[in-house]
Amino acid sequence: MIESAVKQQTYHSNYSKGYSNDVDVLRDLEYPNLKETTYLDHAATTPYAKSLIEAFSRDLTGNLFGNPHSASLSSQLTTHRIDDIRLRTLQFFKADPEVFDLVFVANATAGIKLVAEALRDSDESGFWYGYHIDSHTSLVGVRGLADCGRECMLSDEEADRWIADLGRGNDKDASTRLFAYPAQSNMTGRRLPLRWCKEIRDATRTDGPQRTFTLLDVASLVSTSPFDLSDPSVAPDFAVLSFYKIFGFPDLGALIVRKDAGHVFQGRRYFGGGTVDMVVTHGDQWHAKKESSVHDKLEDGTLPFHNIIALDSALRTHCRLYGSMENISAHTRFLADELFKQLSSKVHWNGRRVCHIFTSSASSGRAALNYGPVITFNLQDSRGRWVGKSEVEKMAAVKNIQIRSGTLCNPGGMTAQLGLGDEEMKRNFAAGQRCGDDNDIIDGKPTGALRVSLGAMTNMRDIEVLLAFIDEFYVEKVPELDVFHVPVAAMHTSESHFYVESLCVYPIKSCGSFKVPSGQRWEIKREGLTWDREWCLIHQGTGVALNQKRYPRMALIHPYIDLNRGVLRITLSDHSCSDSQYLEVSLTRDDPDLIATEMCRNSTKKSTVCGDSVTVQVYSSPSVSTFFSEFLGVPCTLARFPPQTSPRYSKPRRPFIRRTKHTGSDMPGSFPERSTFLPERQNPILLSNESPILLISRSSVNRLNETIKATSKNGNRINRAVAADVFRANVVVAENTSHNPSLPSIVEQPYAEDNWTSLCIGPENLQFDVLGHCQRCQMVCIDQLTATRSEEPFATLAKTRKVDGKVVFGRHMCLSANSFTGTKTIMVGDAILPS
Ligand SMILES: *Cc1c(COP(=O)(O)O)cnc(C)c1O
Repeated sequence: MIESAVKQQTYHSNYSKGYSNDVDVLRDLEYPNLKETTYLDHAATTPYAKSLIEAFSRDLTGNLFGNPHSASLSSQLTTHRIDDIRLRTLQFFKADPEVFDLVFVANATAGIKLVAEALRDSDESGFWYGYHIDSHTSLVGVRGLADCGRECMLSDEEADRWIADLGRGNDKDASTRLFAYPAQSNMTGRRLPLRWCKEIRDATRTDGPQRTFTLLDVASLVSTSPFDLSDPSVAPDFAVLSFYKIFGFPDLGALIVRKDAGHVFQGRRYFGGGTVDMVVTHGDQWHAKKESSVHDKLEDGTLPFHNIIALDSALRTHCRLYGSMENISAHTRFLADELFKQLSSKVHWNGRRVCHIFTSSASSGRAALNYGPVITFNLQDSRGRWVGKSEVEKMAAVKNIQIRSGTLCNPGGMTAQLGLGDEEMKRNFAAGQRCGDDNDIIDGKPTGALRVSLGAMTNMRDIEVLLAFIDEFYVEKVPELDVFHVPVAAMHTSESHFYVESLCVYPIKSCGSFKVPSGQRWEIKREGLTWDREWCLIHQGTGVALNQKRYPRMALIHPYIDLNRGVLRITLSDHSCSDSQYLEVSLTRDDPDLIATEMCRNSTKKSTVCGDSVTVQVYSSPSVSTFFSEFLGVPCTLARFPPQTSPRYSKPRRPFIRRTKHTGSDMPGSFPERSTFLPERQNPILLSNESPILLISRSSVNRLNETIKATSKNGNRINRAVAADVFRANVVVAENTSHNPSLPSIVEQPYAEDNWTSLCIGPENLQFDVLGHCQRCQMVCIDQLTATRSEEPFATLAKTRKVDGKVVFGRHMCLSANSFTGTKTIMVGDAILPS
């Protein structure tokens, strides 16, 4: 305790202020699931405390809760508890139950929908909808129900003007109106003026029934701040929120209604069980709505009563651990200010800013305004070019840092931030951009951003880890050397000393390799090495192809191609599996005599491989699916790619590659000559991700390992060298540095392959075209022998091998068009002549 007292002093008086314990102690006791990770996505959901789950568990096991609204004791218990919790929740927001009612809903979105549908139903002519540009998608969506017009307020000033107009009585059209906005932007963290609710009410006050309503989305605000409804005159008519954002659990939301405005729900056309006093179903089709309360009218069907009961534990635990929302607000504000200060002061060696932090588009400046503990930003390199958000995401995944990236469910705010026009958005969509994809930068502009958000239990260490991460990977301390520089003299040796060191086939996508035995010539086709990525494992529910990034144990699935017997034999290398466990499937597709056919009654099914929809043949036999499902712990089965009569073409899935402008050769880490992966001619490929054949160089792997070891001296981390097989290449080339006595001083040429545009392999001089670099992700961090993850080699690659912000290693290639005829083979030991 003394230690933490000292620490508190050194940080700030607001750090953990009012908490039941120092935040670091709370973290240890209450959040064991945060131990191994740096979680900075509290705006999506904050984690739940251990004692909340324990209290809920005690409550459930100690009581019998029946379905509410009937006379039995167990039902009455539930009913009474719900009444109590409803009141307690209103009190949490200092809301007078005489003035406000609280409706339990699934989440904030469901609350929004309930209000919008009621307004649509309550007026024949529909309603008019105004919303602020900083709105969450769920608020924007209301416009689809607004038949009487809609308007997006692009700035606070625009909202002010609209309100002023209301006051002047410029509303000849007497339509019902709804104005909605977030109390805090989930994207930038900016807090919007709460005064609007009162101003709108005052401006539209009439003797008749209220026709203009305010809907305040407090979902983001309440997660780290008090929301105070103690003064009804300034309160919104409707407020929506989700409890998991405050407490981590339960998954439940609330719609808080000012009872004065409750009459809008009178027109609601739907009714469900629980909301009516009597229903006549024969003849008259009459029903009597419950009149007792707003929530009685709106809570259709059985309430999520277990969730509501959990809310009781959540409220109590939260209060016990943190004291009040004011404490959380002070604590997170201190940390967010610190983070903001540090991020905004980060500069490259040339003084350029590293972090471009978003402020709200609808206002100017960050410090001037009130912000929640949410910071959204993009990174720039020392030349001012944007760093792709998904590149940062991959690196963060390796470092076990959890942040959010993308457009953050805030379409208006994000596009205004990024300076994207509507037309540009539609163009990007037409070019293939989708929410959640990795089209990070289109025409030099980022398409999304990175968001860091803090919560009650965020500690200083989380902030420090994030800052150190940005420092390590994205702050350029010195002008970068040309890391891709290759000794030019060595390039011109006429006699090549490169040869094929090993050949690997990956019959099942993302699973182990089959090493082509030395001395055996292996057929190579336009699609790549024969049998490469002919099969994949697909999820039985979604049909999506599984990958090693998500299921590292796939590395332990070892296919063996037995050409003599015509089978693919699959074994599992795990201590728990005996060697006797294996599966065999026929290599031929339609030979009815082979053993595989009996267990593989194939059916055709649509599957998604690498985001593309392809038709695969599924092995529907339970013995096949059980074999893989039990090993991986996911319901899956083997599937086979259709025969090569209908190949899947390597269409340009990433439009940005084509659009990236040539940025000149003087950029740090640039290539002497530009070569992006975009073949003129489309190459048929099987299930491999990007190209028919992937080549890496042994010398480059050696160099990389030297770099990994050299950097490990800087810290006390032990960075192990990595095996070449993590790169999952088809062809590993090596250099014969001893066989040529006329070149005594020949040294290895790491990364020489970066300059290759074509190469010839073997006695037949088979010609290959090099298509471009292989872009890497964190999958290279999976040890192919043990299926364990580590930071390397991705951490070192990210620091030393970036082209246009993408981490690259190895080269994609394919057989040249002039080599398509006849059977072509290559073999381990074949000489390679690059050009
Ligand atoms: C999270 C959030 C929502 C949506 O909440 P759901 O639980 O997904 O319905 C809406 N608005 C804001 C500002 C949010 O932060």
